[in-house]
Formats: sequence, structure tokens, C-alpha cells
Amino acid sequence: MSQKRIYLDYAAATPTDKSVLKNALPLFNKFYGNPSSIHKDGVSASIYLENSRKIVSKILSARPSEVIFTNGGTESDNLALLGVAKAARGWLDKNGFKGHIITSAIEHHAVLRACQELESTGFDVTYIKPQQNGVIDPSDIKTSLRDDTILVSIMYANNEIGTIQPIYEIAKTIRWFRGRSDVARSYPYFHTDACQATNYLPLNVNQLGVDLLTLSGSKIYSFKGTGLLFVKTGVNISPIMFGGHQELNLRPGTENLPYIVGFAKAMEISEKIKEKESTRLTTLRDYFLQSLNDRLSGYHLNGDDKVRLPNNINVSFDGIEGEQLVLELDAAGVSVSAGSACTSNDTGASHVLIALGLDYDRALGAVRFSFGRHTVKKDIDYVMRVLPVIIDRIRKVNLR
Ligand SMILES: *Cc1c(COP(=O)(O)O)cnc(C)c1O
Repeated sequence: MSQKRIYLDYAAATPTDKSVLKNALPLFNKFYGNPSSIHKDGVSASIYLENSRKIVSKILSARPSEVIFTNGGTESDNLALLGVAKAARGWLDKNGFKGHIITSAIEHHAVLRACQELESTGFDVTYIKPQQNGVIDPSDIKTSLRDDTILVSIMYANNEIGTIQPIYEIAKTIRWFRGRSDVARSYPYFHTDACQATNYLPLNVNQLGVDLLTLSGSKIYSFKGTGLLFVKTGVNISPIMFGGHQELNLRPGTENLPYIVGFAKAMEISEKIKEKESTRLTTLRDYFLQSLNDRLSGYHLNGDDKVRLPNNINVSFDGIEGEQLVLELDAAGVSVSAGSACTSNDTGASHVLIALGLDYDRALGAVRFSFGRHTVKKDIDYVMRVLPVIIDRIRKVNLR
């Protein structure tokens, strides 16, 4: 058997692109000044910083002053939720409001845990359940909106099942709600976690109609531990960490310039090949599903079969635990995930699949195959040779 690894876990992490690395290297040892320093070394560094901000803001159709570089998707999500909640305190108190946030039950834990934290400080949180295909119905958001709702946070695309949420429609609902009363109001804001969507979906923040948007470098062939939060001009938000005045007073600490420069390069590359890659991966995804259909029975695709990212396949196999299959595939040289890299609640089943209303066994049986830039047809052919054999063997053992 081939010893070459076949990596099908791009939704968990991506390899760093060669030119991302190349662009970042001089910032480690040549332009190492602190962007806040006023001498020449500081100024050179700050030019790189501001240039990166320009590159990224252009891709988002935002202003440079609306881009806050962070330490990744988790930090951006936390800043969005905790920062908006903190800044809203005055407005809430003035109106005698409790404070309410709407999110979905299938968000990344970076959003869900931040919401739990806010619940513990007195906020109400509504967790919208998706339909069984994993897509949120915007009318469920509409009926959950309250006078004291300060934020709606719905992910652009899900990290486990790849389903794409109707961000435009949700934004429209929120705009309608804001304009509905006689009193002009800016709440609720709309935040979306776009970490998984970056490589495949449009990122124009005006067209999306979002006020805040999270991106992560680790999913776009850049470095782990880098990302950004888009914060629309006028959004009332407070910092959640304290120190220097960096990143428009919202994110203190010396900027990680090599990573920021790499992140901007990664965004450029991703944007340039977005359409072509989406088409290529959609073809590969359909080929995978067709091949699976030709070779196996007793499996179910989780999440909508069309309204999903081109690179995501999430399947439950009857009579098999996802984790078992992940280990067997690993031994055969293939890297995949059960649920997601950061899956599992106390029961071991994915909170996303449980929220779809799937039964416990099906949730436990889920495996995620996620493709990327280096995935080719040959990889899928190899998986299709080993997968049926493994499944057959596990099923026989489990039956005994
Ligand atoms: C990966 C991911 C995150 C976390 O990003 P980090 O950069 O790892 O902190 C948040 N949300 C989604 C949807 C993700 O896929």
C-alpha cells in the first residue's frame, strides 16, 4: 500500500502556501521594528502593517480602519460577542433592558462558549435550531428578535457539515427590524463567522450586510494563530484585553507582523483562485459522492446536498463509530475527522449533528472529509479502494 499520506482535513487546518511563507520571512529578521516606534525601523514595519490592512480591506470592500488583526478566529469571535455586549451596557441600562443575543445551535465553540459566558453575566441568548438539512430559516430569526436584542451571530458556513447560511436574507431581516420603529436604532448588529467560507464564498461585507465578520488564517493556507475581525464604522464595541493602543484601540499588544503580512498574502491568493477552486472542488465532491454510492450502502450524507461548501463531505456510516473509522483510515494513510477537529460534547456526539435532530447513533457515526488545494481525483480513488474494505471489516466485527 502507498505510504504517501492523503490529507482530507482542510477544514481543520491547511498547509501554509509557499508564497505566504516567502512574504512573511523578511518580517522576522529584516523589518523587525515595532510598528508603533517612530524611528525608521518602526516606520518600515508600520508600512507593511498598513499595506496588509489595505490589501485585506479591499478584498472585503471595507475601509482599512474597519479591519482589526487578531490572534485568530477564536479571538475575533470573542471580541465580537463580548466586545459588543460590553459596549451595549449603557444603552441597555438606559432603556431598562436585560440584553439579548441570537445565535445558532450549530456555531463554532468560539461563539457558543462566548455566548454561555454572556449568559452567566445576565444576558439572554436564543440558540436557533437549523432545519434538518442544517440551514437556518431566516423567519426563525425574525420571530426571535426583541427590543433588547443587541447582536445576531450566525456563521457563514458550518465547519462540520459545510452548510451555507442565508446571510443576505438574515441581514435583510435585521435591517427591517432596525427600521421598523419610529426611534432610529443601530441594534441589533449582525456578526458572521466566515472562517470556513473564506476560500469559496463572496466576502463583500456591504453585499453580505454584516456589521462584524470573523476570519482565520489557519483555514486559508496562512499561519495558525492569525485572523481578523471586520468592524463596520460606527459599531459600538469595547476592547476585551487591555494594554497598548494598537489596532484602533481594540486589540492591544505588539502586532504579529510576519503573520499579518502572510495573512494578507493568503487572502490575495484565495481571492484570485476562488472561482476556479470552487468549481474544481465541487466536481471532486460530486465524484466522491457518486463513487461512494457505487460502492457502499448504509450511509447518509449530513447537511444539505447542495447548499454546502464545495470542499465538505460529512457522512454517517450505519453501525460504525466515526472515531473508529478515523483511526482505521489513518492507519491506511488517510487523514479525516470525526465531526470536527474541536468536536464532541460530554457524550462524544457532535453538537451540530444533534442540533439537526439526527439520532445519537447517526451523530456518532459521522466522518468529515474536507478537500483543499492539493486534493486530486487520484486521492479519492485511493480512499474509495480502502474505505469499503475498512467499513466491511468494522461492520463484521461490530456484529459479533
Ligand atoms: C477554525 C474555526 C474557528 C477558530 O479559528 P482559530 O483561528 O483556530 O481560532 C472559528 N470558527 C470557525 C467556523 C472555524 O472553522
